[in-house]
Amino acid sequence: MVNNEFFRECVSLMKKNGIDSAYFDTKCIFEDFPEDNEKIFSLVKKRASGYPLQYLLGQWEFYGYPFRVNEDVLIPRADTELLIENVVDICRKNNLSSPKIADLCSGSGCIAVTLKKQIPSAEIYAVEISEKAVEVIRENAVLNDVEINIFHADVLESETVKKLPELDIIVCNPPYLTQEEMDGLQKEVTFEPPSALFGGTDGLDFYRKITALWKNSLLKNGWLLYESGDGQHKDIKNILGKNNFYNITFSRDLNHIIRNVTAQKQEDK
Ligand code: GLN
Repeated sequence: MVNNEFFRECVSLMKKNGIDSAYFDTKCIFEDFPEDNEKIFSLVKKRASGYPLQYLLGQWEFYGYPFRVNEDVLIPRADTELLIENVVDICRKNNLSSPKIADLCSGSGCIAVTLKKQIPSAEIYAVEISEKAVEVIRENAVLNDVEINIFHADVLESETVKKLPELDIIVCNPPYLTQEEMDGLQKEVTFEPPSALFGGTDGLDFYRKITALWKNSLLKNGWLLYESGDGQHKDIKNILGKNNFYNITFSRDLNHIIRNVTAQKQEDK
């Protein structure tokens, strides 16, 4: 049983500093660091200053699996679980039993690793530009006991495309925040790597470049699935259309915001 007085003191310190999830966050910290009040209090103070809970704990859940996280990677979001559902659906409906799937801008590797967990016969390729993030992906593959192919490479380089085989599916949660959004980030998000968030002035740089560069690595009728920012889906649809993708569909996250754009590569190049 935790020391109630101390617990309440921690919750109220967080509350005073505007942390809405003060009770939950305090509970998580107490659970992870039992009987070390000094450590607990230093973490509570850090959380009260706006530092993300997930980095303090060093681990976070995505699709029911544990993932190591640190300041080198974007924190896995529940919204991103939609991408997993959509890929799993596509594989099931189209009888893709051992698909080749690339996860571009892999970050913590939460998408790549989860896909391997859900589709064990798939061949998964995770591509990530940050060397420190690549270390996190490796850790997460080991933590979840899966084998995936990890490439430390820039997804915007044509050399990278050549290193991968022809693919059934490309999935990508690119940096997509606009300059305006970067200027008004929630305190917690300011601790995440800007390189994982900023998608250029209009937020669409990665969609434009990745679509044009990677379309030829997809097999005929292969799928490209993007996570998208709030309100970006029409622009992304346009980009996909210009690059000869068809069957462009949208799907919504738990907040009913369109969060995924899915498309198929045209049969004749
Ligand atoms: N969804 C993230 C946010 O709201 C952004 C992640 C991204 O750019 N891919 O902060």
